[in-house]
Amino acid sequence: MSEFQSILKNQHRFFRDGHTKSLEFRVEQLNILKTLLKENEEVLIDAVYQDFKKPPFETFGTEIGLIINEISFALKNLEKWIRPESVPSSLVNFPSKNYILKEPYGNVLIIAPWNYPIQLCLLPLVGALAAGNTAIIKPSELTSHTSDVIQSLIHKYFSADVVSVALGGVDVSSELLELPFNYIFFTGSTRVGKIIMQSAAKRLIPVTLELGGKTPCIVDESADLEISAKRIVWGKFVNAGQTCVAPDYLLVQDSIKDEFLNHLKSTVHQLYGEDPSKSEDYTRIINDAHFNRLASLLNNGSVVIGGQLDESERYIAPTILENITWDDQVMQDEIFGPILPLLTFSDIDDAIAQIHRTTRPLALYLFTTKDDVEKKVLEQVSFGGGAINDTIAQLGNHHLSFGGVGASGFGSYHGKASFDSFSHQKSIMKKNFLVDIPIRYAPYDGKIKWLKTIFR
Ligand code: NAD
Repeated sequence: MSEFQSILKNQHRFFRDGHTKSLEFRVEQLNILKTLLKENEEVLIDAVYQDFKKPPFETFGTEIGLIINEISFALKNLEKWIRPESVPSSLVNFPSKNYILKEPYGNVLIIAPWNYPIQLCLLPLVGALAAGNTAIIKPSELTSHTSDVIQSLIHKYFSADVVSVALGGVDVSSELLELPFNYIFFTGSTRVGKIIMQSAAKRLIPVTLELGGKTPCIVDESADLEISAKRIVWGKFVNAGQTCVAPDYLLVQDSIKDEFLNHLKSTVHQLYGEDPSKSEDYTRIINDAHFNRLASLLNNGSVVIGGQLDESERYIAPTILENITWDDQVMQDEIFGPILPLLTFSDIDDAIAQIHRTTRPLALYLFTTKDDVEKKVLEQVSFGGGAINDTIAQLGNHHLSFGGVGASGFGSYHGKASFDSFSHQKSIMKKNFLVDIPIRYAPYDGKIKWLKTIFR
């Protein structure tokens, strides 16, 4: 038996014996995770910095702090979430009690990408534990410092019967996918998402797929251009654009293009200085392969801002490109780096038609003060979730579930949605023996008229 098979077998036994199901046990596990994060903030921040020079402020704000908040929210609401949910009875089943039990799936597999290497391992874990599951986490092999720290901390703080971490790349992932998990939660690329789903289909394992895509960011002439530029530059260049919900490309109304470009330029300088390579607040590209992929996109259109490279540091300056067409390489796939192509549109119908050239994106951002424009975009474009007049910040609200649609994935999490994702809804109808209405039993002769009074 392989190491992972044996860990899973023990987790399976632990779950079947009922240890994970009580409210007390779940609360205890969530508190352990919170303690782990609070006691090891420095070591985690340092590991992420070693992996790709992510500023401590960003690691705390977009990873550790976010998970701590998510745990606090779950702790506050868990008692309410795990209660059976009463639902109305139906005429055909009169008299009866009807309710839905929130049942943990059992043993779940969480596969994470590298770009938010703490958050994307541990935020799904909050939902998995809150819902009463055990978990094996497979972090990314590309952030080796962070993944090593996550493994050693999880193994120190948790029993392996509850949470364990499997380190490795495709080989380890593939090995795990052969095991009989009860649920798979995958975050990563659309390409690998298809492999995960195919593999899960062999055993009919349910999946959540949190994938990527080309997220549009529309700016129309009614927007406050100065504030829009700030919110877009922040959302695009935080984590050096290596964010699944970062604006992938800009669609700017042609009447304001030049003015908006000036705002973008001055905002980039304001946030990162004249030479962003010297800024302490700017992340590097994760590895050479991604650096080379991104560098090759700089030949597309013309560089208006940025464009500088330093291969030895894997540094790419915050860059904005114009004179871009939909045939350019930069518009073919998700960019996932600090390069922001700018395209223009004449009216909102034109912008919507351009967005429809891609598969359904994970997010969409719209900067406007016009209600009719907002209504049209929300009605006519399908996307995972998004924001009006901001970027990325929607993730800071537990009450907004997060997930894609179509090629950007399916299923959702954050807040209560995480608990729901990791719970099976077990519907129960309960009757007593006092009343037994005979209409459903044969012989049926002459009874159909009664059925017709019920089914109408
Ligand atoms: P990836 O798909 O290459 O890898 C993700 C995970 O899958 C890693 O742990 C990796 O080891 C594993 N993996 C890779 N190839 C595999 C295979 N053939 N079989 C089984 N497992 C395999 O993604 P990445 O490069 O780490 O991350 C970037 C992608 O993730 C982007 O597309 C981004 O949009 C997406 N993403 C989505 C979200 C979201 O919440 N929707 C969040 C972050 C990143």
